[in-house]
Amino acid sequence: MTRHAHQMQRHTVVLRQIEVLRVERLSPYMQRIVFGGEALRGFLSASPDDHVKLFFPNDDGKLVLPTPGQGRLEFPEGEQPSPMRDYTPRRYDDEFNELTVDFVLHGDGPAATWAAQAQPGQHIGAGGPRGSFIVANDFDHYVLVGDETALPAIGRWLDEMPYGMHAIALVEIPGSADRQALSSRADIELTWFEREGQDAANSRLLEQALERLPQLPGDTFWWIAAESGRARRMRQYLTDELGVPKEWVRATGYWKAEGTVDEE
Ligand SMILES: Cc1cc2nc3c(=O)[nH]c(=O)nc-3n(C[C@H](O)[C@H](O)[C@H](O)COP(=O)(O)OP(=O)(O)OC[C@H]3O[C@@H](n4cnc5c(N)ncnc54)[C@H](O)[C@@H]3O)c2cc1C
Repeated sequence: MTRHAHQMQRHTVVLRQIEVLRVERLSPYMQRIVFGGEALRGFLSASPDDHVKLFFPNDDGKLVLPTPGQGRLEFPEGEQPSPMRDYTPRRYDDEFNELTVDFVLHGDGPAATWAAQAQPGQHIGAGGPRGSFIVANDFDHYVLVGDETALPAIGRWLDEMPYGMHAIALVEIPGSADRQALSSRADIELTWFEREGQDAANSRLLEQALERLPQLPGDTFWWIAAESGRARRMRQYLTDELGVPKEWVRATGYWKAEGTVDEE
C-alpha cells in the first residue's frame, strides 16, 4: 500500500439556517457558540481541516443567503448579500444535533463583530463543508502549527487523534489567559506562545519555534494555519530549506492582514 496517501472526500453542499443555542466566552479573545436547529441534521464534517462558510446579517440586519448555483453562489438581486467567512466546525454532536464553532474576537469584521454580540435565538447561515481533506494516518509524527484562528482546528485534531499517534502542537495566542485545556488520547507535546501585545501578522514566535524544533526520526506531516503571509513563509521554510516533500505539508492562510497582497 502507498505510504502517506491523503484522501479528498467531496460532500454535497448544503446551505442551512442555524440558530444560536448557547454562547460561552472561553477566554478574552475566544467566543464559543453552539448552534442547533433541525436544518443541522445530517451535518457532515470528516476532518479537523474542514471549514464551513458562515453567513452573517448584512448592514440592514437581514440574512440574505445565496442559492447554490452552478459552481458559484448566486444572491437575490436588489439586496445586500450577507457577508460570508470561513470557520472550523470545532465539534458536531449528532446525538444532540449541535454544532460548536469557536470565534476569535479580533476586533473589526462582520464575523468577529457578530460573534461578540451573539445571543441565543439569533440565526445565521452555514454552507458546507464542501469537502474534507483527510490526512494520511501513517506518519510517525504530526506537527500542528497555528495562531488562535487555528486553535479550533488544532483542538479538534487533538480530540480526534487516536492512541499511539505522536503530535507536537505549537499554538500562538494573544496572552496567557487565552490558553485552553486541550487533551488527547495521542501522545502530545503542546507549547503555547503568547504575543503579549505584539500584532498577530508581524509576530514571529511560531517561525522561531519551527526553526528550533529538533529533527524528528521518521516521517513527519506538517499542518500550518495562520495569517496568509506567515503560513506561506513557514511552508517555504519547510519545503525549500528543510527539503520536506510538498505532500507532507499543508499550510493555509486563515486570514489576511490589512494591506497585504498575494505573492507566490
Ligand atoms: C479554513 C479556515 C478555517 C477558519 N477557522 C476559523 C475558526 O474556527 N475560528 C476563527 O476565529 N477564525 C477562523 N478562520 C479565520 C477567519 O475566517 C478570519 O479571521 C476572517 O477574516 C474573520 O472575518 P471577520 O469578518 O471577523 O473579519 P474580516 O472582515 O475578514 O477582516 C477585518 C479586518 O480584521 C483583520 N483580521 C481578520 N481576522 C483576524 C484575526 N484573526 N486577527 C487579527 N486581525 C484579523 C483583517 O486583516 C481586516 O483588517 C478560518 C479561516 C479559514 C480559511
